[in-house]
Amino acid sequence: MATKSLKARSSELAQTQKQLEFLDGGPFATGELPRFEAQIRKCGMGPLRPKKLEILQINLGYMCNQVCAHCHVDAGPDRKEIMTRETMEECLEVIRTTGAHTLDLTGGAPEMNPDFRWFVSQASEAGIQDFIVRSNLTIIRANKKYYDLPEFFAKHNVHVVSSMPHYTRGKTDRQRGSGVFDKSIEALQELNRVGYGMPGSSLKLDLVYNPSGAFLPGDQASMEQDFKKALKADFGIEFHNLFAITNLPISRFLEYLIASENYEDYMTALVDAFNPEAVHNVMCTNTLSVGWDGQLYDCDFNQMLGLGVNSPIRHISDFHETRLQDRDIVISQHCYGCTAGSGSSCQGTVA
Ligand code: SF4
Ligand code: SF4
Repeated sequence: MATKSLKARSSELAQTQKQLEFLDGGPFATGELPRFEAQIRKCGMGPLRPKKLEILQINLGYMCNQVCAHCHVDAGPDRKEIMTRETMEECLEVIRTTGAHTLDLTGGAPEMNPDFRWFVSQASEAGIQDFIVRSNLTIIRANKKYYDLPEFFAKHNVHVVSSMPHYTRGKTDRQRGSGVFDKSIEALQELNRVGYGMPGSSLKLDLVYNPSGAFLPGDQASMEQDFKKALKADFGIEFHNLFAITNLPISRFLEYLIASENYEDYMTALVDAFNPEAVHNVMCTNTLSVGWDGQLYDCDFNQMLGLGVNSPIRHISDFHETRLQDRDIVISQHCYGCTAGSGSSCQGTVA
């Protein structure tokens, strides 16, 4: 498993243009597989257009205490891109005025941003209905200064959404690094201790599953039952929902697909599982993604590919909801990851 980001390894794939060229080439260049744009046009669903803005997803930076094999952000301890307080203030202006009901903070490990706690306390006063922080769990046990995060989250009524690729040590550590499983279990127990994830508790704790190889996730509802049973029996852990997410063929997961010679098979599996029903609810239709530097994207994946919004409004400082909603969503072959089977979004399946 890599211990550095693609960027720190000066990998060719650290350049988003190279990833896009790859996604445009191979079976999509020869016509063996239909391009995503043609596929949705054939179903009468292109171009994709935003519906009402419901979720504002803000990336606080690419720094992370982990270097997971599948990471679509190419995050790691060596990534220094981090949102400044000035950009956070611009985000707060928008949070206070937008009609979006959900705020979703992500990274990297968003908690590693030095202004994370300030930002959370400011944002939690803005009256947002659902305030999500995507926590990788291990950060809670990484250093004493993070030990009180469960209490901090509870104080601000934050909805914690955490990656947990499996309820066994082997599968989790293979994907996320040695020792990650044990630390994640400790963190979940700490979150339970303050009330997170307990039956009937308003402190919401959801887990995210993503496959550990070149295959699509199984049925979300039955996996949730398996996770609940195993984590309760083995560690006394409770949580609310499990979101099953498909790995998109970008960044380090793309690197893995290429290195393991699984790329073509994986793309074929995604195309074969194309589900027009999922297209109606892909997350770019109700979400806007804000990069660490304030640039705007249709979704987190487009952010990581450097595909900015197709709009004159391109930065959070120029935010204008109505004008911004009048745009075509930027798509490429990675979008097949959102429309395969039951579909996939940061909130799990969509169809
Ligand atoms: S997947 Fe999440 S926890 Fe893992 S390196 Fe990427 S941002 Fe960090
Ligand atoms: S990758 Fe982004 S732009 Fe493409 S379908 Fe998914 S959410 Fe929409």
